[in-house]
Amino acid sequence: MPAELIDGAAIAREIRAEVAREVHRLAQRRIVPGLTVVLVGDDPASAVYVRSKGKATEEAGMRSVTIRLPATASQAELLSCVDALNADPSVHGILVQMPLPKQIDTVAIVRRVRPEKDVDGFHPVNVGKNLIGERDGFVPCTPAGVQELLVRSGVQTRGAECVIVGRSNIVGKPMMALMVQNAAGANATVTVCHSATRDLAAHTRRADILIVAAGRPRMVMGDMIRPGAVVIDVGINRIDDASAKSGYRLVGDVDFESAREVASKITPVPGGVGPMTIALLLRNTARAAEQLA
Ligand code: NDP
Repeated sequence: MPAELIDGAAIAREIRAEVAREVHRLAQRRIVPGLTVVLVGDDPASAVYVRSKGKATEEAGMRSVTIRLPATASQAELLSCVDALNADPSVHGILVQMPLPKQIDTVAIVRRVRPEKDVDGFHPVNVGKNLIGERDGFVPCTPAGVQELLVRSGVQTRGAECVIVGRSNIVGKPMMALMVQNAAGANATVTVCHSATRDLAAHTRRADILIVAAGRPRMVMGDMIRPGAVVIDVGINRIDDASAKSGYRLVGDVDFESAREVASKITPVPGGVGPMTIALLLRNTARAAEQLA
């Protein structure tokens, strides 16, 4: 029997509705959560992400501001922009869109954002809080979204073998930190695989929960999946497709057709993890406003 689909779009709508209710409650205390996104340069993909974040922020009843800096902006200019946002009481969440131009030291920018406004969860203080299981920090939106998908789909995580493919600071590592906690929606036995892992399939085949974030189109095939496993595909890859109007289509890091014959539940691409990332960004922003009040 083909796997049940985990409908990320529907679950993300549920979360966005919860955030909108929270924003309404904050409005009664005269608090309007504000998210400011800083976009440096004119990378077209980044511009699309920033537009959709702005639209979703407004739809949730929050204030959305986008600051555009030229691709030639200096480190000092960007740092002073972040400093101004750190000091502005109407700004509760700050998001500096990545990637940044070459002349900018990304690590220094990430460290400059006040941890209390770091709704991306990339500041070392928030990274540390996630690792030690302190819940008042911010967890990066994509792994937090994956955990919500598991919880809201009724997946048993306690004691489960959870195998994560990928160890980036944005997805794989924070995912590991979340799933290993002695907490609801976690308490799994976690294995993290990467490009130096020997015999990847031997690990993926042990997984009750397989989370793939490798950035390699259709790398995980059905025969690498344990029958009945839950498969979360974080990957978003463009591949050429002459039959599509745009000339390309989006695929995940998992080969959906072969995987769905083996898995018990699976996320599609698009419509799986993708919509969750924005939903969790909105939730983080509403919480930042509440905590800063
Ligand atoms: P990175 O490129 O930063 O990290 C990829 C990770 O996968 C690395 O740790 C790498 O190992 C590992 N890897 C690559 N090839 C293999 C392999 N053959 N076997 C085992 N491990 C491998 O990517 P991100 O984490 O930023 O993103 C991963 C994917 O998720 C991408 O497709 C991206 O587009 C997507 N994404 C989707 C989001 C969403 O909203 N749905 C948000 C963020 C990302 P090593 O460290 O050794 O190089």
